[in-house]
Amino acid sequence: DSRHPHIFVVMGASGDLAKKKIYPTLWWLYRDNLLPPATIFIGYARSKLSIEELRSKCDQYMKVKDDEKEKYEQFWKINYYVVGSYTERRDFEMLNQEMSKHDNLSTANRLFYLALPPSVFESVTVNIRNTCMALQGWSRIIVEKPFGKDSQSSKVLSDHLASLFSEDQLYRIDHYLGKEMVQNLMSIRFSNQLFNPTWNRNNIASVLISFKEPFGTEGRGGYFDEFGIIRDIMQNHLLQILTLVAMEKPASVHPDDIRDEKVKVLKCIQPLTLDDVVLGQYVGDPDGTGDARFGYLDDKTVPEGSTTPTYALAVLRINNERWDGVNFILRCGKALNERKAEVRIQYKDVPGDIFGGKAKRNELVIRVQPGEALYIKMMTKSPGITFDLEETELDLTYQHRYKGVVLPDAYERLILDVFCGSQMHFVRSDELSEAWRIFTPLLHNIENNKIRPIEYIYGSRGPKEADEKCMQANFKFTGTYKWHKKHE
Ligand code: NAP
Ligand code: NAP
Repeated sequence: DSRHPHIFVVMGASGDLAKKKIYPTLWWLYRDNLLPPATIFIGYARSKLSIEELRSKCDQYMKVKDDEKEKYEQFWKINYYVVGSYTERRDFEMLNQEMSKHDNLSTANRLFYLALPPSVFESVTVNIRNTCMALQGWSRIIVEKPFGKDSQSSKVLSDHLASLFSEDQLYRIDHYLGKEMVQNLMSIRFSNQLFNPTWNRNNIASVLISFKEPFGTEGRGGYFDEFGIIRDIMQNHLLQILTLVAMEKPASVHPDDIRDEKVKVLKCIQPLTLDDVVLGQYVGDPDGTGDARFGYLDDKTVPEGSTTPTYALAVLRINNERWDGVNFILRCGKALNERKAEVRIQYKDVPGDIFGGKAKRNELVIRVQPGEALYIKMMTKSPGITFDLEETELDLTYQHRYKGVVLPDAYERLILDVFCGSQMHFVRSDELSEAWRIFTPLLHNIENNKIRPIEYIYGSRGPKEADEKCMQANFKFTGTYKWHKKHE
């Protein structure tokens, strides 16, 4: 229906997410002619901003090249801004009037991106429902995390949204689902006879899914402290990756077939307990420089004595026929030694060894960021006259294999999906409620009993207890593998 006008509304247009992510994404989609022809953008917030002022907030994030300047001017010409509250129906009627101005025949489709703090969520959605819905076209609502803080608050939010909109109007963003290598998981698994039949408890020892960030809270600790790393990263991004690694083959690639399988796998996971986790909190590095000298508790916006974890490792078990006995380790942390997100599928030791214990485990590594890659660590005969074994790799590095191919940003793919009506890469409400079921008892225990996290130093790999837990969970690190940098 690209003939109809499309109206994209950014609720909270004056905010951080809007300037850093949403407007840049809209501009890139516009620049690359990926949006339906008659699309316009309307920002909405309480701040009295002109389009010029809004533009100057966004400018530094838009990455405009010299030969794109003219198009960039055109982009801002189809931007509008409405000032209004989040609570007054009258203000939303004004917004509706503005939309109607651009929609003479009342056939436009309307998209609402809620880039707002959760506190105004309820009133905004009620007002949109009552005054701003498309007349003949469709209306779609894009929602950002946090989707609640635990099972109960998430259910309140889900029930509220379900009372206003149907599930096919709701697009819950988990931007990890927009990343190239995360989207690739299904293709790798289900289009390779090499992997598909070995993807089970008979062959796989353990799975390690990691997210590492090399910086701390950087003065935004107030926001972070309310949620902690488990809610910020593990319960959503890492668990989503887990479901894509572990789910059964869907009946088809239809979004609901895929999401049905993701839910099924979550249903096979018991709620986590304290015994399943290692929690950490970073402290300053006295020998470090700059931010590294300061620990989490040194951030002035963090409440004194906070026990909120900035690092977490959790071992999950999937009680089904495919995965019984295989540990899925989720691991994430701030202020670590590097930036990295990856999946490691570690295969079992070769049974009936004839090489005197020299064969190391195969490992399939899927690196999500930085530098997309997929490599398989494998054993080979040392080249030459010897009969020794050697660790090597089959390596697919995107930068080499797909030279010059531009991979779109996660938000670009996801916002485009909303235009197209594809919910494949969005979180369905039953997925969300299963995710909270797994994490809520643990989170309540941590908070009610103020469980003290283990200290780790800014810039380190995290608490050593986490490595021990990995070992117990049958993830073997040998330290013998050597990567030849000259390949890079
Ligand atoms: P933000 O900048 O704090 O808020 C967006 C806008 O909402 C503000 O410009 C402000 O606009 C209005 N607002 C802020 N506090 C308010 C309050 N207490 N009452 C009423 N209005 C208020 O938030 P954000 O960082 O853009 O994030 C928006 C949403 O996306 C949040 O739910 C956040 O958790 C989520 N999110 C953000 C990021 C990120 O990178 N920033 C990443 C993932 C998810 P006016 O005062 O002009 O009305
Ligand atoms: P590895 O050397 O076997 O290391 C695996 C991971 O184990 C490390 O990255 C580290 O990650 C973790 N580790 C380090 N010390 C540990 C310890 N004491 N106990 C437990 N875990 C420990 O293999 P690799 O990381 O797969 O490869 C080595 C290097 O080669 C990496 O830099 C990799 O990016 C590079 N490489 C690149 C490509 C490519 O670009 N295509 C292909 C192959 C290899 P954590 O800190 O996250 O725990």
